[in-house]
Amino acid sequence: MTITPQDLLRPELANMHAYYVPDSDGFVKLDAMENPYSLPVELREKWASLLKSVELNRYPDPQANDLKQALRTQFSISDKHELIFGNGSDELIQMLALAIAKPDACVLTVTPSFSMYKLISEFIGVRVAEVPLTETFSLQVDKICEAINENKPSIIFLACPNNPTGTLWSIEDVEKIIQKTQGLVVIDEAYAPFSSFSMISLVDKYSNALMLRTFSKMGLAGLRFGWLAGAEKWLNELNKLRLPYNINALTQASIQFALENISVFNDQAKQICEQREILTLELQNIDELQVFPSEANFILFKMRQSSADKVFTSLLEKKVMIKNVANNNLLKNCLRVTVGTESENKIFINALKSSIN
Ligand code: PMP
Repeated sequence: MTITPQDLLRPELANMHAYYVPDSDGFVKLDAMENPYSLPVELREKWASLLKSVELNRYPDPQANDLKQALRTQFSISDKHELIFGNGSDELIQMLALAIAKPDACVLTVTPSFSMYKLISEFIGVRVAEVPLTETFSLQVDKICEAINENKPSIIFLACPNNPTGTLWSIEDVEKIIQKTQGLVVIDEAYAPFSSFSMISLVDKYSNALMLRTFSKMGLAGLRFGWLAGAEKWLNELNKLRLPYNINALTQASIQFALENISVFNDQAKQICEQREILTLELQNIDELQVFPSEANFILFKMRQSSADKVFTSLLEKKVMIKNVANNNLLKNCLRVTVGTESENKIFINALKSSIN
């Protein structure tokens, strides 16, 4: 008798899909919020010689204590807070969802927002409640408070700035939500390097607020490194779910090196913000588009008349890859472009204009 996956596996798996990443070989790649700049050659060489000295026959430092200290200093993380590292911030979202996965647990988030809050919660078996944003993508705080009463969420995930809209919520609104809930609020600042404001003060003020960050958007997506900061009483429990040695030795050494050379990454983030302003103006000059202001390294825009699907396909034919996000009710006919280098942005704008006509 042949055993089928259905015989052994959780039935939910049959309806799930693996996270899809399109093949981008040969494309101008503006779909995944990566930093488009590489590092100066001298820095790459210094980095390579540092990596040569890493003892790969040994397991990595399990607590990554040196790295913790360097991060605390760089990001002014209070001594009263603990830190946990993840293999990308995705892994930390997974640890959080695993920790609260009691049979009646619920995660609350807004829609549209980062898709992994929902996907991870669902594959762990946690119910997800979603409150839609307004048409112009602001938070509906009253509706969120109603949803808190109704669902008693164990965690509320808030991406600040939000993906895919680029919106930064007001700190007063986020504070109201933290005060209202009996659960945790995870403030996900993945796009902090490009935004005008951080909500870290809320983590200092409220013990149920946690701060999630990643090194992916500032230029190290390939390393997979994220961190979570917050009150010890929560992080010590979450740490029990962390797989031993989850941050490999090469990543630990590389992140430490990146922190020592943080000004290079900060300068690149500044350049990306400058390019974002230029690209926003270029998009606003195209009558067919409604462009949404962004505090991140991407821009969301809506086609007024043409079909976003058609424009997206036509861009692919011109070897330009952006993200089609039109699968959400509030994002009908919307596309999202990552800010690239000056020349990539020009190629994109020209391809977009000819795709619309
Ligand atoms: N949070 C937000 C809001 C994101 O948009 C992303 C990635 N697109 C992540 C977290 C995950 O980042 P990573 O796993 O690369 O750290």
